[in-house]
Amino acid sequence: MSSATEPSFRQSVDLMFNRAVALMDLPPGLEEKIRVCNATYTVRFGVRLRGGIQTFTGYRSVHSEHMEPVKGGIRYAMGVNQDEVEALAALMTYKCALVEAPFGGSKGGLCIDPRQYEEHELELITRRFAYELAKRDLINPSQNVPAPDMGTGEREMAWIADQYARMNTTDINARACVTGKPLNAGGIAGRVEATGRGVQYALREFFRNPEDVAAANLEGKLDGKRVIVQGLGNVGYHAAKFLMSEDGAKITAVIERDGGLIDENGLDIEAVHQWIANHGGVTGYPNARYVENGAVLLEEDCDILIPAALEGVINLSNAANIKARLIIEAANGPVTAGADEILREKGCVIIPDMYANAGGVTVSYFEWVKNLSHIRFGRMQRRQEEARHQLVVDELEALSESLGKTWTLDPKFKERYLRGADELELVRSGLDDTMRTAYQSMREVWHSRDDVTDLRTAAYLVSIDKVAKSYRAKGL
Ligand code: GLU
Repeated sequence: MSSATEPSFRQSVDLMFNRAVALMDLPPGLEEKIRVCNATYTVRFGVRLRGGIQTFTGYRSVHSEHMEPVKGGIRYAMGVNQDEVEALAALMTYKCALVEAPFGGSKGGLCIDPRQYEEHELELITRRFAYELAKRDLINPSQNVPAPDMGTGEREMAWIADQYARMNTTDINARACVTGKPLNAGGIAGRVEATGRGVQYALREFFRNPEDVAAANLEGKLDGKRVIVQGLGNVGYHAAKFLMSEDGAKITAVIERDGGLIDENGLDIEAVHQWIANHGGVTGYPNARYVENGAVLLEEDCDILIPAALEGVINLSNAANIKARLIIEAANGPVTAGADEILREKGCVIIPDMYANAGGVTVSYFEWVKNLSHIRFGRMQRRQEEARHQLVVDELEALSESLGKTWTLDPKFKERYLRGADELELVRSGLDDTMRTAYQSMREVWHSRDDVTDLRTAAYLVSIDKVAKSYRAKGL
């Protein structure tokens, strides 16, 4: 995919880090302490399957423990390796710092193609992997809290949570050992959609700043913008669906592993998603033009490109041909360090991964807090809100009475006002608030410093500063 001169994923992240840190004034040595991964644990374990024993290789990397627990997903894919989990763990550190989720960074992975296994086999494998990690405190509510990533989801998180609970029967906080669980196993409303939702909120915030929109050579609002999405997995699907149905964006192309679909008038994302679920890919989808070599669609003309799959897909081999004016990195590390430079020179604006896909870990944070508080998220606030609203309604009704009922409250308004926000609404508004605040913190640096010319460097500056402050405060 990438040329011989392309650095590895971890090196690419380090290069971007170095570029930012060169503009900072950190005490000697702290820079390296922050950059390097603290530890990476490799495990090889056997599982009895299909009449034989199969050996699997897994990793859990801890990048920075300036805050604990450390946080980050577990990926199931054949390409998982130490370099990749370390790069992803580093990105988790910066991501959490940027959105002020009080965690250090970690990431895990298992070399497996989950599509090759039956559900009961995956359960056996996942439980065994979870056992290996939990007995070394690499799964633990106060030390290391995994979550879904590529190839894993609610189902795997429920197995992990149950495995941990069996190993720690007296831990009252056992459920907080992992996030991204199903609702009925201690999950939170809105976690599945969270990363895609965060991408939508990030774009909305970007388009609220005309100066930034102009920097990308775009104008106006999200409405009518032509968007290409690479990867219609959990993140890409939700981002595309919300942008299309709620913001009026047109999804003009999608790229999947078996090819791409293109339709200048805009694809029906729900229909494409359904087709993929039924047929295992986009091939044969009747209502759009099919392109076998999907990757070429990354180079198609569009306003916004959303890489939402693997790292390194925009690299030295195609960066010069990218026509999108704005790239939002829904995936982790989709643009290599070399490609980043080429795109910057072309004037393409990149909303960086550590911000763009932080919606997942933000809602994971809400879930973790919910688990630790042992109460439905926002329940106390909601009760208080309801009581306060009741007082207002009582007062207004008494006033209406004293005025001889010359006016009354609209019953619909009254019902809605008294009800207060439910868990999903609270999660979404908390996420929206987080995405707005984090964007403003990056933007401030981007526009106020002459030596900062891109959002990625700005994001690194904000997050490294936070990590550095926390190391300085607590000592190494
Ligand atoms: N795997 C997701 C990420 O890369 C979510 C991590 C989490 O929720 O802890 O950000």
